[in-house]
Amino acid sequence: MAKSYKNGGIEVITGPMFAGKTEELLRRVRRLQFAKKNIVVFKPALDDRYALNEVVSHDKSRTKSVNIVSPSEIFTHIDEHTDVVAIDEIQFLTEDVLEVVEFMVNHGILVIVSGLDTDFRGEPFTFMPKLLAKAENVLKLSAVCVKCGAPATKTQRIVDGKPAKYHDPIVLIGASESYEARCRSCHKVYYKPKLKLELPW
Ligand code: ADP
Ligand code: MG
Ligand code: ZN
Repeated sequence: MAKSYKNGGIEVITGPMFAGKTEELLRRVRRLQFAKKNIVVFKPALDDRYALNEVVSHDKSRTKSVNIVSPSEIFTHIDEHTDVVAIDEIQFLTEDVLEVVEFMVNHGILVIVSGLDTDFRGEPFTFMPKLLAKAENVLKLSAVCVKCGAPATKTQRIVDGKPAKYHDPIVLIGASESYEARCRSCHKVYYKPKLKLELPW
């Protein structure tokens, strides 16, 4: 391994949907391309919203990517010359991606990832808290609440025109639901279990 282990590190770009996570990932990738770094961009194969073999933001900026189903596939697309690995929508991969990320970082690769910090209920998205805890650098972006214009930190799932239910599955690929960026007070989830808490004044 010719590369210094010191080059490695984890950068996480997080926040709700529409926050500009993919745009920020692409911005960092473009800067590193100017710096002549060897970069490979990955995304989970299930996310085919806009294009195959491309990472595309909601604003339609894009870059070539490798679609993967299993995190270990990353190893068949990188080599000793790889400086940077970028992964968009990392929350859709399985948790063993954490080990793959750690291995790459320990071998001097800079790993830049973007992913949702919370699911549609506002709960931590599967393994994302672990990734955020392990990261050298975290950027938490907000979107704009479609209801009131405040900074949106949450992703609202709408099913048949109504807010989703707390016990619905986290990932509903291909279902006829839609998502909106919302602030804390406009974010709604039906049947969310609550403790009976009261203010003491
Ligand atoms: P993410 O990857 O976080 O889902 P993208 O980088 O793909 O976000 O897209 C961000 C872009 O989405 C913004 O620059 C803007 O053009 C567009 N957009 C659409 N709806 C919203 C919203 N409610 N708040 C902010 N940006 C939005
Ligand atoms: Mg995105
Ligand atoms: Zn709001």
